[in-house]
Amino acid sequence: MLASIGSAADPGGPPPVVRHTSSADMEHNTIRVRFAPSPTGLLHIGGLRTALFCYLFARGQGGTVVLRIEDTDRSRFVPEAEADIAAALAWIGLSVDEGPTVGGPFGPYRQSERKALYHRHVKRLIAQGDAYYAFDTPAQLTELRSAGAAYNVATRMDMTNSLTLPADEVSGRIADGQAHTVRLRVPADRTIRFEDMVKGSVTVESSGIDDQVLIKSDGMPTYHLANVVDDHLMQITHVIRGDEWLPSVAKHILLYEALGWHCPAMAHLPLILSPNGGKLSKRSAQRLGLPVNVRDYQSAGYEPEAVVNFLAFLGWNPGTRQEVFSLAELEKTFTLERVGSAPARFDLDKLQWFNAQHLRRLSAQELWDRACPYLVEVAPDHGVAAAALVQDRIILARDLAETYPYLFTPPDDYDPRGVRRRWKQDSPALVEAYAERLSQLASWEESALETALRSLAAEHKVGAGCLIHPARLAVSGTTAGPSLFALLRVLGQTEVVERLHRAVAVL
Ligand code: GLU
Repeated sequence: MLASIGSAADPGGPPPVVRHTSSADMEHNTIRVRFAPSPTGLLHIGGLRTALFCYLFARGQGGTVVLRIEDTDRSRFVPEAEADIAAALAWIGLSVDEGPTVGGPFGPYRQSERKALYHRHVKRLIAQGDAYYAFDTPAQLTELRSAGAAYNVATRMDMTNSLTLPADEVSGRIADGQAHTVRLRVPADRTIRFEDMVKGSVTVESSGIDDQVLIKSDGMPTYHLANVVDDHLMQITHVIRGDEWLPSVAKHILLYEALGWHCPAMAHLPLILSPNGGKLSKRSAQRLGLPVNVRDYQSAGYEPEAVVNFLAFLGWNPGTRQEVFSLAELEKTFTLERVGSAPARFDLDKLQWFNAQHLRRLSAQELWDRACPYLVEVAPDHGVAAAALVQDRIILARDLAETYPYLFTPPDDYDPRGVRRRWKQDSPALVEAYAERLSQLASWEESALETALRSLAAEHKVGAGCLIHPARLAVSGTTAGPSLFALLRVLGQTEVVERLHRAVAVL
């Protein structure tokens, strides 16, 4: 069973302690976790971390993943945001069992389509005296706030709410179309305690909590109301979300209590810090030139496997030395017990490291497939061999095309510094002779290419380097790269002979 909290009918007694679900409870419960983004913009990397942790926890327990779109703030609603969220989840491979597009037994899964439900529950709260119609104006609120930072509207704002106005005046004002909200009546002196699965024991005094707005003047529920009603109706067992929502828990507990419902277990994920301290925000990330939105990571060329692995380590660790994990491996290994409460530092170098590691786990064919979109020219038939050649040297799949363009097209020009250092007086004759030899070769094995070069060098009484360096420059335009003979093997006989001739003509 889920933790029980004191009922509204029993306001005396000790303060309620909300416990999280124990493992014994879990055996009898189907774990249900929701990811509940607000569609106020493109999904950012921190939001995706929350989605991933929700997913890993649910999958590890054989539970259900619910996607709920919290779109009640119409002033911040961005129409394309929901599709962007779905695309981001799909990109890193997080499947959803219930949600706005897949449906499910607890739909609709967009809060804007559930308005009637919230109103039904609020009516009950009003009837019980736990909520009231409030006619306070922004000016009155400002006045109250300047009088004292923390306050409870119900006890201080006389004459402007249904607790102090006669019932017929309240209905008269509503009938007249006077702007109003519905507020939760927050007790003035309660100590609210709960156990967070990540943060541990948390205590909040209700004296610091305003009477929360539940229904806004536009008739829409607030985040607090809709979130609590839906977590209950959707039978959510574990609320896993960012640290910034921790201050909402006490308000939610008061609501659960007033509605007579159990409170789900809570787990608030650690803050993500920007590389030079402070919270990683959209603005701080932009200032540092870091990608912000999930789609920015995608277009920068990061692999989804690497992003998953990187995000998992923003707050979690396996307690072993293993660092490289696939999503499937994480599903088996992840536990909330190993999520730390200390802030996690965002480190782009680490993401690049993960990316390089995951590229090495791919087959050469897979790597080639992922690099193809970055190639301007039509893919040559030696693409897979080219991918294998530099698989251990690249960070992003696009590097295959961008760092090693000569694997696919002849060099346009030759690095001038390389030419000064490596293209000597005897180079044209030597390279030309090597081209001749290679055009006669019957075997295109690396060993044959090497033997041909070394014997030619010996015949000309020069060191092998006098041929290796200019030959590399001639075929690649640069002085660094993978082993020369492996490179020649991959490029193929016709192409190599052509490139050698061309360099001799141009240089
Ligand atoms: N809609 C909230 C958000 O955008 C969800 C917070 C929660 O998970 O309760 O992050």
